[in-house]
Amino acid sequence: MFRGPAIALMLTAGLCAGQSPFEARWKFLTQSLSKADLYRLLWDVPKGGDIHNHHEYSVPMTFWLERAAKGDYQTRVRPGCGETLPWTVLRSDSVAALPACAQRDFAPMRALTAAQRRAWLAAITLSEREAGKATSKDEFFERAVPRLGDLERDPQLIADALVVAQQQLQSENALYLETQADPRSFPGLSADQGAEVLRLRLAQPDSIATGVAVRMQVSTLRFGARAEADLRDGFAFVSRNMDLWRGVNLVGREDNPAGAPARFAATLRGLRAEYPQVNLSLHAGESANADSNVTDTISLGASRIGHGINARLDPKAMELLRTGRYMIEVCLMSNRALGYVPDLKRHPLPYYLRQGIPVSLNTDDRGILRSNLTDEYFAAVTQFNLTWDEVVRIGRWSLEYSFAEPELKRQLLVRYEQNVLAFERKYAAPDWKHRLAEVPEPRRNAAGPP
Ligand SMILES: [Zn+2]
Repeated sequence: MFRGPAIALMLTAGLCAGQSPFEARWKFLTQSLSKADLYRLLWDVPKGGDIHNHHEYSVPMTFWLERAAKGDYQTRVRPGCGETLPWTVLRSDSVAALPACAQRDFAPMRALTAAQRRAWLAAITLSEREAGKATSKDEFFERAVPRLGDLERDPQLIADALVVAQQQLQSENALYLETQADPRSFPGLSADQGAEVLRLRLAQPDSIATGVAVRMQVSTLRFGARAEADLRDGFAFVSRNMDLWRGVNLVGREDNPAGAPARFAATLRGLRAEYPQVNLSLHAGESANADSNVTDTISLGASRIGHGINARLDPKAMELLRTGRYMIEVCLMSNRALGYVPDLKRHPLPYYLRQGIPVSLNTDDRGILRSNLTDEYFAAVTQFNLTWDEVVRIGRWSLEYSFAEPELKRQLLVRYEQNVLAFERKYAAPDWKHRLAEVPEPRRNAAGPP
């Protein structure tokens, strides 16, 4: 049952009176708690949505390891026969289509030794040692991402991974998952049949029990030769499946000039004219160097920008962003790990936030990065000294700027404000220390041996 109007009135009253009465308590908590207790508090902080993440790379890689071992999957246990990337996973029928010499490099996932399982996990995750280096982008895009191979095209696994992702967010007190999950390339299924597999999975009791609503975007690899055709197909697909799919994204490395925003101007102009409801959130400005990609991307019609790190170097982009009409989807852990912002102290998040530019905190690829949504909050609070008002605003923005349809958005916002009030009451009460100790042990997404 929702008690929206009453809560909205209380909140408005609080805002009119100025600073939240919880602000002083927040300052006390964040300045006096140990690191471990602060992490536990932030685990418990009400969160809105994680609205920028890539579905396949958002669940623990142990999920894929375990599920591949139960299916008909093989992995390349050594490089050889012209292929240099070990640990790629293929279905047995894909392996059978390879030249004979290449087939000999594969072993069934279910037959891997403990050492091979560890090596597989190490190959597909970004270790602390690799994070933030000049080579980490290549490690991520060229080696970790392709290794899931045929697993990404298994409709049942993709559907089951959605529920794992919901459960992850539920445990971190978040309400909404907006993920880039694309059912258009499942072998033997049409795009709409693929969508139906995911739709049915989200109607199962274990999915509903999480209380985490799911909406999705399809994504187009920006520098691919067929990118324009794929965008057209993506718009048509979303417009047919708007109960769950709400938008389209452009993904892929921005240091490849073949995927520059200008390439898509004419195509997107046509698609916007044809499809009134399809939302656009595009990766842009995932770069430490100045360019006009964020400005160009806003002019393509995007209402949300993925990363937007270099927008601060583009006065035109800043002018547009300060209107408050566009959101920047910030992904701190990803930006650090991939070396775009190796020292988070230099991240533009506070610069954006404190000029009134809407921002959200998101996990991007938490499975590969071995991070979670709380890590994003922990980094933001400890690096930038976020006020309680800022923490609450970031969560609220993540729902307000989400692509959820109006009625779902309204419900999520009501639940969010309720959770905020409950959190404030809990940690303003005299027994707050007991209540903090009762918060379930935070679950890091560590990809150790299963
Ligand atoms: Zn991304």
